[in-house]
Amino acid sequence: MNSSQLLVSNARKYPQGEAVVSQAKRVNFNELNQLVNQLASVLQEKQIKKGDKVILFMPNVLEFVVSYFAVQRLGAIIVPINAKFSTKEVEYIIEHSDAIAFIAHELIFPVVEKIQNPNLLIKTGAAVDGWLSFEQLISAGSDEEIICTLKEDDESTILYTSGTTGNPKGVLFSYRNILTVAQMICVEMEMKPESRLLLMMPLSHSAPLHLFLMAGMIVGATAVLTPTFTPDLFIDTVVQEKTTHFFGAPVAYLLSVQNPKLKEADLSSMKWWVYGGAPISKKEVDFIKQAFQTDNLVCVYGLTEAGPSGSILIAHEHEQKAGSIGHRAPLHTELRIVKDTGEDVAVGEVGEIVLLGEGNMLGYYKNEEATKAAFIGDWLKTGDLARFDEDGYIWVVDRKKDLIISGGVNIYPKEIEEQMLQYQGIQEVAIIGVPHPEWGETVKAVFAAKEQVDIEKLQYYLAEHLAKFKLPRLYEQVEALPRNASGKILKQPLRNVGVVQ
Ligand code: AMP
Ligand code: MG
Ligand code: MG
Repeated sequence: MNSSQLLVSNARKYPQGEAVVSQAKRVNFNELNQLVNQLASVLQEKQIKKGDKVILFMPNVLEFVVSYFAVQRLGAIIVPINAKFSTKEVEYIIEHSDAIAFIAHELIFPVVEKIQNPNLLIKTGAAVDGWLSFEQLISAGSDEEIICTLKEDDESTILYTSGTTGNPKGVLFSYRNILTVAQMICVEMEMKPESRLLLMMPLSHSAPLHLFLMAGMIVGATAVLTPTFTPDLFIDTVVQEKTTHFFGAPVAYLLSVQNPKLKEADLSSMKWWVYGGAPISKKEVDFIKQAFQTDNLVCVYGLTEAGPSGSILIAHEHEQKAGSIGHRAPLHTELRIVKDTGEDVAVGEVGEIVLLGEGNMLGYYKNEEATKAAFIGDWLKTGDLARFDEDGYIWVVDRKKDLIISGGVNIYPKEIEEQMLQYQGIQEVAIIGVPHPEWGETVKAVFAAKEQVDIEKLQYYLAEHLAKFKLPRLYEQVEALPRNASGKILKQPLRNVGVVQ
């Protein structure tokens, strides 16, 4: 089984069908297959073979898609790197992944120009000394169709996590892992050859890569790519390209809700607006529904290590359960919430979500210790704390590592964050635990707001809504909170090392 064969098959079934739209470029399945043949033949000539690691360091552009399927065609392992990573982070990944080829893009060449790793047989990115442009590289290729036979358990991809602490870890997937989550989303999102998938979130992340790019290839849908995300570009692209599916982190939607274009835009082509990857409150979901004038919102919960898969809240469930992540795991996945002892929790009780399914990673590349720590038996530990309500819906309470223990009592930052977000003018909040000599930890609020906030008034408001032990003792107003490339707030840089007296 080789997922690159899906492209060969689409090139026969829908030769004229639009495969990729990327900035000014449009290619059909036949043309895409030819480009992939060309690149695969060049890579093969340069001795790239099954099991070798090839880095793709690119924003969402046509060249990414061509490289992705060309590398798979040889059975080599794809290592996509977030296009926003710095030279140092990229160098770490080249070294750690044992990569021997590096395919980058002009758009981000300044970051990669300094890379000196002597093990790289191929370096592309621009037409300068020692490097080839993508066009130069591919122009040497032939049209011959190479297909290497693969098994579903063969290694396919290593995705390096954004790493909120320490060095990023490489999540290793088999073909079975990525194809099962892609098939799951084809079914859940009713994807068809006529579907037009909008891919604005970085393809270096598992959700856009497996749930959208690969799923689209299974059914022969069109992938509409943009190298960046801005609310204007988002709305314009939906309108111009008549896209049908979009996946974005909550922040992508929340940044767009006040865009004046939304009022006039014809968004009727959209079938599903998919959001996930970070927590969102009922209030925020309702706000998005109203601004986008739609009931077609779908929430996905999951994590890279699971493919991603996890759970889904479908559109009509939003009426009653917005803010929850659904009541079930999708196809090929099972979900439980367990206590530290491994026993299932009772209704209402908080425990950790664990997942069993075909999406679960093979392990962290070259990190047995972390791999062992990530599983209980075959079940993947998500690190997410959650509870079931009486109707069986799952509510994420917080991430286990963000839990604050103050004076022996558990405090869930998310609850406080949601309350603070209701306060006039506050736009972003991170509640963190900072060391305290007597209580172990104490609660600190770091937030951004439209105007200077009067802390005394804010404290008064919070005291009306939250138990005393949950109230932040420290406040810091900042311009904006740090976020990673998938839109999640990074708490680690905010955690103060100083001890509060
Ligand atoms: P990543 O490994 O970057 O895919 O991030 C996975 C983590 O994002 C999960 O462990 C959750 O903490 C969080 N997450 C993903 N989807 C959701 C969601 N729909 N609601 C709340 N948290 C989410
Ligand atoms: Mg992440
Ligand atoms: Mg993660």
